[in-house]
Amino acid sequence: MGAKILDGKLIADELRAKVATEALSLSAKLGRRPGLAAVLVGEDPASHAYVKSKQKATNEAGMVSFEHRLPENTSEKDLLALIAKLNADNAVDGILVQLPLPKQIDTARVIEAVDPAKDVDGFHPMNAGKLSTGLPSLVPGTPLGCIIMAKKAHASLAGLDAVVVGRSNIVGKPLAQLLIAESATVTIAHSKTKDLKEACRRADLLCVAIGKPEFVKADWVKPGATVIDVGINRVPGADGKNKLVGDVAYEEVSKVAGWITPVPGGVGRITVACLLVNTLRAAAARGGLAVPNL
Ligand code: NDP
Repeated sequence: MGAKILDGKLIADELRAKVATEALSLSAKLGRRPGLAAVLVGEDPASHAYVKSKQKATNEAGMVSFEHRLPENTSEKDLLALIAKLNADNAVDGILVQLPLPKQIDTARVIEAVDPAKDVDGFHPMNAGKLSTGLPSLVPGTPLGCIIMAKKAHASLAGLDAVVVGRSNIVGKPLAQLLIAESATVTIAHSKTKDLKEACRRADLLCVAIGKPEFVKADWVKPGATVIDVGINRVPGADGKNKLVGDVAYEEVSKVAGWITPVPGGVGRITVACLLVNTLRAAAARGGLAVPNL
């Protein structure tokens, strides 16, 4: 029997509907709509597309979207000045700086310049530290989305053998922290892991975020396991046009796994919804109100 599909669109739509309801009630309490500022530096087409979809989702959820598009040659000083302005702007609850940034700008410095209370991407070291010490924090959207997906397949993640392949600051590490918080037994694998296939085969819950097209094969997966594929890779399709594939060889793995996320239509869909959840949380917390539990 083939794996059941974790439908990212369906789950994201449910979440976005909840966010819209909460945003309405929060707007009434705050006397203004929660606001998300997106900062985009340069002309990268993929980044422009991501920012556009985030803005559309923000408006559809009943929040205000502020847009700041800066030229490719923007200096770090000018970008930091804009962030300082957004930090001080009461109408702005969340700030997202679309990555990657041009090479003249120090990404770490920019991330640290964002007010942690408005850090809806959850990348600020203060939020990363809070996550790792179990304190409430703004958590990066993609790992949060992975947990939401995994919980659709498992009533509880406690005691599961979870393997996270990839240890980046934006996906692998925070995902591992979230899984620890869910009481899973967590292994983090990466490019130096000795026997990656064997590590993956131990997983009840296998999460892959490496950026390598269709890297994880069927014989790497324990029969019945839940597979969460974070990867987004553009590869040439049979028709000569580019198509999106994940880090998991979907066709073959879906014959072995119990549950699987497709690419496209999987984790990527939830990431944007989680950004909205974070904006709502940031707005509530800044207004001294209870943070909605969605
Ligand atoms: P990074 O490049 O920052 O990190 C990749 C990680 O994968 C590293 O830890 C690296 O190990 C590990 N890795 C690379 N090659 C291998 C290998 N052959 N075997 C084992 N581990 C390997 O990537 P990101 O975490 O930013 O993104 C990962 C993927 O997820 C990408 O495809 C990206 O497009 C996608 N993504 C999707 C999002 C979504 O919304 N769905 C959001 C963010 C990312 P090491 O540390 O040893 O170098």
